[in-house]
Amino acid sequence: MDLYEYQARELLREHHINTPKAVFAQNSHEVAEAADAIGYPCVIKAQVKTGHRGQAGGVKLARDRDDAILTSEQILPMSIHGHKSSGVLVAEAKNVLHEYYVSISVDRTSRDFDVLATANGGTEVETIAREHPESVKRLHIDPLEDFDMAAAIDMAKSIGFYHADINQAARILLNMWTCFTANDATLVEINPLAKIGDPDDESSKTLCALDAKISLDDNAAFRHDGWKRFADPMQSDPFEAQARAHGLHYVHLQGEVGVIGNGAGLVMSSLDAVSGSGEDHGTGVKPANFLDIGGGASSQIMEQSLRIVLSDPQVESVFINVYGGITSCRQVAHGILDAMAALGGVKPIVVRFDGNEAREGLDLLDKAGGPGLHVCDTMEEAADLAAQLAAAAKEARR
Ligand code: GDP
Ligand code: MN
Repeated sequence: MDLYEYQARELLREHHINTPKAVFAQNSHEVAEAADAIGYPCVIKAQVKTGHRGQAGGVKLARDRDDAILTSEQILPMSIHGHKSSGVLVAEAKNVLHEYYVSISVDRTSRDFDVLATANGGTEVETIAREHPESVKRLHIDPLEDFDMAAAIDMAKSIGFYHADINQAARILLNMWTCFTANDATLVEINPLAKIGDPDDESSKTLCALDAKISLDDNAAFRHDGWKRFADPMQSDPFEAQARAHGLHYVHLQGEVGVIGNGAGLVMSSLDAVSGSGEDHGTGVKPANFLDIGGGASSQIMEQSLRIVLSDPQVESVFINVYGGITSCRQVAHGILDAMAALGGVKPIVVRFDGNEAREGLDLLDKAGGPGLHVCDTMEEAADLAAQLAAAAKEARR
């Protein structure tokens, strides 16, 4: 899960990294209150989970109250690279003397953690790496060894925080590391880490985080109360929320064929087979969702899955693809029949079973299933039939 800047700043502050005072606001009235509290000039920043906001006009300086209101009225309705703004952050404006980039992330190739840093901060690190590759330093943290102050000072020196306090830079790296590990993050990025202050007064100069990007490892959510405090009402999809509440792995997509299977790989190939059929027949039919019921799913899980998929009004047909390993196809068949009985006249359902108790499951469906239930021998046939049924239903609606 990616965090908004205002949430990322909150985590940094909890780990003793300085960030300018800032308040999240969702309308111009809240902006005016926040700006008055923070003082002028202040910075108004679009809260979207994407970068390059500055270039897109999503980060602006406001001189006074009227300016803050006007600017927020421009930024609040903005979409940046397809992401609708969830609000704005009203932040204390700082006099920036220099911008650095620092990040800690998981490096899957070397199976450790990467510290990436450059004194040419401000722009995206990909751009810096392309234009000034020599300025970007990459250092590794061994996951089996501790990252301590001595190591952090060595790193800060080799990164070259020239004109900045090496000890302060090292402390920030160390705090980023505790923030990273304590929150099971996969990325903690500060860009810019700014040197701020009065150019003529050495003692006023200090480092602080003006922008932060943090990604959390979804697989660790259970250790953090599901990260309820970072829940995003704006972006949350009602079908995904419902599926999550039942512990199902569901992703909402844009098409017409609901897809349910067991195992992420099998479901992915089922999605491909549906899209392939839509292309082959020129219908443009696509999958409506990804839903993995996992291993050993019971009839109740199958029933719940079908309920969620069928509650989506864009779904015209459902393709159920189960390869019985620990999952029993007979159990799955019971779940399908229970759901159909409970939901009444449902959309066409195409089933393909293989493996554990496939024969028993198919026999059950043959005996009890109504006219809306279809059974196929192979995944390709089943995907094709489900896609064709959805195309016909869509056509009939015109
Ligand atoms: P991004 O474009 O999405 O990465 O948004 P940032 O928060 O990094 O803002 C873009 C740029 O705006 C920064 O690199 C800074 O140069 C500038 N900026 C942001 N906050 C301040 C501030 O408080 N004072 C000054 N002078 N510039 C700021
Ligand atoms: Mn930035």
